[in-house]
Amino acid sequence: MRIAIISDIHSNRVALQAVLADAGAVDETWCLGDVVGYGPEPNECIEILRQREPRLICLAGNHDWAALGRLDTSDFNHDAEAAALWTRNRLTPSSRAYLESLPERVIKGDFTLVHGSPRAPIWEYLISAAVARANFALLTTPYCLVGHSHIPFIFYEAVNRQDLPTVHTASADKMIRLPEQRLFINPGSVGQPRDGNPHASYAILDTGAKTIEHRRVPYSIKETQRLMEQAGLPQRLIQRLEYGL
Ligand code: ZN
Repeated sequence: MRIAIISDIHSNRVALQAVLADAGAVDETWCLGDVVGYGPEPNECIEILRQREPRLICLAGNHDWAALGRLDTSDFNHDAEAAALWTRNRLTPSSRAYLESLPERVIKGDFTLVHGSPRAPIWEYLISAAVARANFALLTTPYCLVGHSHIPFIFYEAVNRQDLPTVHTASADKMIRLPEQRLFINPGSVGQPRDGNPHASYAILDTGAKTIEHRRVPYSIKETQRLMEQAGLPQRLIQRLEYGL
């Protein structure tokens, strides 16, 4: 089965469409949360995703919950909070009902899917080796797909499980075979990359061939920025897109 692994779309419809076009025909689409927040087209992104039902798995992320008012945005920085409140007012009843329905964790065959980490699916950033090791201890499947940090990477569990896992930054267009070791895999962010590369990031998983390939896709950043200006979203959020930060 060929599966598009996407995450952190953040209401960036232009980036989402570019990624789905690049992925081409897939059997399923797995989205690791943060469909909304930051960007200008939350309802449009939800509609595009839902066209893929029933071959779609979509999880809840912290920004999806913030848009629903399910969590306190005072932990957010000022711009993220402003965007969350803007999104909350903009969601249609059907978009809101869809976000309400999203699960925090899904287990599918060899894969656990969460937005943050197995230990704290909505909130925890799985970005250090120590946090990865603590989460490997809780993992019940060989592989786990995470989003949230917007950084494409793979953590490999150490052969001796007491040792720290090793991290590999994912290079684009390099296909790797899934090893015997357990992995945390982050596909990076579709709508707001933060690894210094502004191109949309995602991954293609082939469960038959047991391979994963990270990919980068250019899209019209200018068009998303124009829509954000029109929406009156914070300048810092508009500018960061062109730097991938
Ligand atoms: Zn995010």
